[in-house]
Amino acid sequence: MITKPKGTMDVYGIDAKKREYVNEILRSVCNKYNYNYIETPIFEASELYHRGVGEDTDIVNKETYTFKDRGDRSLTLRPEGTAGVVRWFIENKLYGNITEPTKVFYNGKMYRYERPQAGRYREFTQFGVEFIGSDDILADIDVISVAYNTYNLLGLKNVTIVLNTLGDQDSRDKYRDALIKYFNPLINSLCEDCQKRLKSNPLRILDCKIDSDQDLLKKAPKIIDYLNKESLTRYNNIKEYLELMDINYQEDFSLVRGLDYYDHTIFEIIADVPGLGNIALGGGGRYNGLIEKLGGPNIPAVGFAMGYDRTILAMDNSNVNLKLRDDIDVYIMYVSKTEKETAAYLLQDLRLNGFITETDYLNKSLKAQFKSIERLNPKYLIILNDQDLKENKVTLKDNLTKEEQKIEINNLIDYLDTNI
Ligand code: ATP
Ligand code: MG
Repeated sequence: MITKPKGTMDVYGIDAKKREYVNEILRSVCNKYNYNYIETPIFEASELYHRGVGEDTDIVNKETYTFKDRGDRSLTLRPEGTAGVVRWFIENKLYGNITEPTKVFYNGKMYRYERPQAGRYREFTQFGVEFIGSDDILADIDVISVAYNTYNLLGLKNVTIVLNTLGDQDSRDKYRDALIKYFNPLINSLCEDCQKRLKSNPLRILDCKIDSDQDLLKKAPKIIDYLNKESLTRYNNIKEYLELMDINYQEDFSLVRGLDYYDHTIFEIIADVPGLGNIALGGGGRYNGLIEKLGGPNIPAVGFAMGYDRTILAMDNSNVNLKLRDDIDVYIMYVSKTEKETAAYLLQDLRLNGFITETDYLNKSLKAQFKSIERLNPKYLIILNDQDLKENKVTLKDNLTKEEQKIEINNLIDYLDTNI
């Protein structure tokens, strides 16, 4: 038997419906903010992620699916969505004539070679928004509030925005020096990766999954003490606006993100989920340096991404009541050849008029069709018989009240329209 690859999943039945539901909410939230939907390729030139996400990140270092195609090009399955969107923005020279910022949202499969566990897969789905072309803090707030409003609409109660800043380059350089000074004498207590990170990118140590519980990490210098005046003002403004907009947040000066491209605002959305504790559903931040790093001009941007899988896991464990619709409007029953022909005609007619319509595809007896109806629970049954059809009528049964009536085929759609 061929089984699915490790860390992947098949989504069907109720799980597929949940995804559709989350998707609908995300789309409708994005609509309100005037974000446009974008699709970019699932694979890109490997270089995009090496330069974009960063050589020293776990994502690029350990987690990429990279392969050579038959033309000897090195390609990588996308581990995240931002780099692809930025590549699209630069390639199409959308920076040429900026009169409005570019606001897009995406939704698609991402790939990371991780150790599979609850809420962590090798193929997973992310939704994200990117707001390109504004350095205004209103753009940061816009993105944070998309995340916040989405989770509220999804019915997740215990959700907090965890906020930090990485400051500008100048602040970050000072902070970096302070971290090197602090960690240098402690180098032997760090994990092997962090020992390397100390030289290449000391900020990454703070995001280490192995060392994260260590006291020495908790006591490390905090970015807030190294922010220059501009960066601090900006950070304080963000908090002020979040308060203005009634968005719950918590500061966490040890928050760093898993990707290298952030500066200033960074945030994660954490949910307190029964049975799982605090889990990160999504995260984002400002990435003013990324577009230039990938060969475009110096254009500011901010974005956010969330994982479907953990969001649905959180909704399940929090017993969120989903308003899923899986009910059928009409079931058409038939036996004879002429009845079957009428069934085909009515199926087409009803579906074109917007009714969810089912019938028998297995040549079942009427008795067996009634069994199907018990399972499917349609609102109405259309019971065809040759006698009625001669008078251009059908028997229509209300499946709730069990009342039956004969109705002219010509009046059927009107009747269902007013009664469903
Ligand atoms: P973590 O530290 O939990 O690995 P991350 O910093 O790698 O998260 P991001 O790259 O910011 O996460 O991705 C945003 C969101 O995408 C995460 O909060 C999570 O919901 C989801 N996500 C990331 N990696 C996976 C994965 N392997 N499987 C399922 N969902 C994931
Ligand atoms: Mg990760």
